[in-house]
Amino acid sequence: MRQNEQPSALIMIFGATGDLANRKLFPSLYRLFEKGNLSENFAVIGVARRPLSNEQFQENVKKSVQSAASNEGENIDEFASHFYYHSHDVTDTNSYVFLRDMAAKLDEQYKTMGNRIFYLAMAPEFFGTIAIHLNEDGLTNVAGFKRLVIEKPFGHDLKSAKALNNQIRTAFSEDEIYRIDHYLGKEMVRNIEVIRFANAIFEPLWNNRYISNIQVTSSETLGVEERGRYYENSGALRDMVQNHMLQMVALLAMEPPIKLNTEEIRSEKVKVLRAMRTIKDDKVDKYFVRGQYGEGLINDQKVSGYREEQMVDPQSNTETFVAGKLLIDNFRWAGVPFYIRTGKRMKSKSTKIVIQFKDIPMNLYYKTEQTLNPNLLVIHIQPEEGITLHLNAQKTGNHMNATPVKLSYANTGIDGINTPEAYEKLLYDCMRGDATNFTHWDEVALSWSFVDNISQFWQKTPAQFPNYESGSAGPKESDVLLARDGFYWWPIGDLEVENC
Ligand code: NAD
Repeated sequence: MRQNEQPSALIMIFGATGDLANRKLFPSLYRLFEKGNLSENFAVIGVARRPLSNEQFQENVKKSVQSAASNEGENIDEFASHFYYHSHDVTDTNSYVFLRDMAAKLDEQYKTMGNRIFYLAMAPEFFGTIAIHLNEDGLTNVAGFKRLVIEKPFGHDLKSAKALNNQIRTAFSEDEIYRIDHYLGKEMVRNIEVIRFANAIFEPLWNNRYISNIQVTSSETLGVEERGRYYENSGALRDMVQNHMLQMVALLAMEPPIKLNTEEIRSEKVKVLRAMRTIKDDKVDKYFVRGQYGEGLINDQKVSGYREEQMVDPQSNTETFVAGKLLIDNFRWAGVPFYIRTGKRMKSKSTKIVIQFKDIPMNLYYKTEQTLNPNLLVIHIQPEEGITLHLNAQKTGNHMNATPVKLSYANTGIDGINTPEAYEKLLYDCMRGDATNFTHWDEVALSWSFVDNISQFWQKTPAQFPNYESGSAGPKESDVLLARDGFYWWPIGDLEVENC
């Protein structure tokens, strides 16, 4: 069935005065509106605790759009006129009845065909309560579609994720739940499938006969900033590995789906997560490394260690860095390590994937005492977006010498226009009913059960923290993890082939 490219809907944003709504959701909705991807028949109800009039809320929406937009925001008044506000404590039962009546009026006024999207942009402890109320107070009783968009974190372990899922399933079926993993909205993460399945030169090599290892790195220079309270209960394993890192691994490792549709792609990703070797108890130290940043230098500025951050326990055992070796026990990947690495306060901000191919069977250049660089396919996710293929070739006049060369494709900059923000694409997908780039419950459950084994072991065994300097590439044990297999991490920043 062809999806409606200009969907009509009433969108309720819970947490409409918060950071996510202001920084991401309003500007993304505006860009959809500006490009004509939103029909005129849409309305937004912002819900939050603070008392605000509709006019004040519309002013906030305009400000947030203007601070994110590159232009002055044409038609901004018209856009903002679709926004309404309801001051509401989500734990207050009576308030939902008012919200239901308000929604019914707007449905009629904007001819939304009874389509509703409920976007939960607030602290996860409220997700279950809101979903139950939406159902009991009749807000989900609609003539059109109803969809729930839910932010991370989806629980903090398998048990709590199951409890949350059971709560939201009382009001929404699995195919009405859109669990956001904003990495799946990133242009180059979406591109992994195209690179793999639309190129005859890669897919035949995409296996344990030709690939020696795969490295997925997501590093930031920022520390925990003002999120200390949240981060203390989370750490890098739950905040990054359970969702974003494992999602990227699943996309890299999955079998070609029989069709490029939601069910088939998700089902292939689930198979990868099922094939991931369980790592628990005394195996954890062999396969995983944790770290916590101490003080150091970022851009020549002295920064403090994690334990000195606001709302962080001075004895904190929370990890701000994780490196791990994953093994996928299936025919395609047996014996190929997938190394993942993520951390805060690292030396540069970069998310990228390096696929390292096996060495050729024989080096014909040994007489010139040359070691050949392995071929690499690098997928740059952020801040750069693109692909680089590392080859060996002969430079002019350099007879019989092989020199490393790079073939690069930059996704940005072709026409000078930045690629759309992840949230813009995900909101649009949700409005069109395409759940491919949202995580299915089976993926969430499998990821949590993998990660729980590691976090349970770490909780029992205090770490020697801090163990890496701010501005570095993480603890040295992370290098040892690869060195044991005869590999090393490719640099976090730009991969200068000449320096390899
Ligand atoms: P925030 O603290 O900035 O905003 C929270 C919002 O919830 C505010 O509008 C507040 O008024 C509202 N709220 C709180 N208690 C309420 C209550 N009892 N009744 C009604 N409204 C209430 O949080 P945020 O940074 O916008 O994050 C929201 C969610 O999105 C969280 O689940 C977070 O983990 C997730 N998330 C945020 C970001 C981001 O960039 N900010 C990124 C990824 C995920």
